[in-house]
Amino acid sequence: MHFSIKLNKEVIFMKKSFKSLVLKILFLLILVFIFVLKTEADDKLNVVTTYPYIASIVKEIVKDRANVDYLADSKLDPHHVVPKPSLAVKLRKADLLIINGASLEIGWLPPLMDLANNNKINFGTNGFLDLSQYFDLIDKVDNVSRAKGDIHPDGNPHFYLDPYNIPKIANIITERLSILDNKNSNFYKDNLEKFKHKWEQKVKDWDKKMENIKSLRVFEYHRLFDYFFKRYNIVLIDTIEALPGIPPTSKHIEDLVKKAKDEKIEVIITDVYHPIQPVSYISEKTGIKFIILPHDVYSIKEVNDIFELFDYIVNNLSSFSK
Ligand SMILES: [Zn+2]
Repeated sequence: MHFSIKLNKEVIFMKKSFKSLVLKILFLLILVFIFVLKTEADDKLNVVTTYPYIASIVKEIVKDRANVDYLADSKLDPHHVVPKPSLAVKLRKADLLIINGASLEIGWLPPLMDLANNNKINFGTNGFLDLSQYFDLIDKVDNVSRAKGDIHPDGNPHFYLDPYNIPKIANIITERLSILDNKNSNFYKDNLEKFKHKWEQKVKDWDKKMENIKSLRVFEYHRLFDYFFKRYNIVLIDTIEALPGIPPTSKHIEDLVKKAKDEKIEVIITDVYHPIQPVSYISEKTGIKFIILPHDVYSIKEVNDIFELFDYIVNNLSSFSK
């Protein structure tokens, strides 16, 4: 009896020590696994962009050889992103920050940059890239309208909504990636060429579809699609906003109802984040249709990359062919 208890205790002890050994080995394995993962992750360049459309272009170029993340929720106003601390965490880890620029991020990015305190992505370093610097902006406004609260003080910042500007953006990004991650430079350049080739084919398609709707007369809510309109000769008669960022007064809405009839407006274009009421009101009063167009990747469920963004815009606008 005594012997049997002792034996049992030994067995239990052996079982316990075996269990603890297994646990120790498991723990060590997990540590090794984390270390391997971390080394692999650290090896890759961390690219953070302010908007999903930029991230989509970056992904076309880097594929899986860099980590790509973005800050803004594209279902909301790109001018007014909430600077949550979680966004500063993304910036803290970034090796390269790519912004749209032209004051689009002026209201929300600076406090996040302060919070992140990451020297690698400071203005003027290779880790900071402002795309707007490479484009001639339209709608440069004077000081008078700026004093009224215009949120396009440097001109219209939504230049990426012209499909002809996308290859240039891809070139600029590839050039910077090649400087920061030289070992993958050839890989990035190859992907750039493939992307530009595919884009060229798509543009031919879009151009063809848009040919039928030249001189379409429109209202839009915010001056989001002006570069697109300019590219395809769509005639913007007025905006639902009084000025960029300034909500419409009821008088302005009534003026637009009259103007819509007088100017033979064919469609009212709005976006996913402005209030729908002024648009549906004008539409009801005049019988003119309105459409909601995405201004960025992920702003609607059908748009998950830069190709789908223009596919959606073109397919919806071209349904208004005459
Ligand atoms: Zn704007």
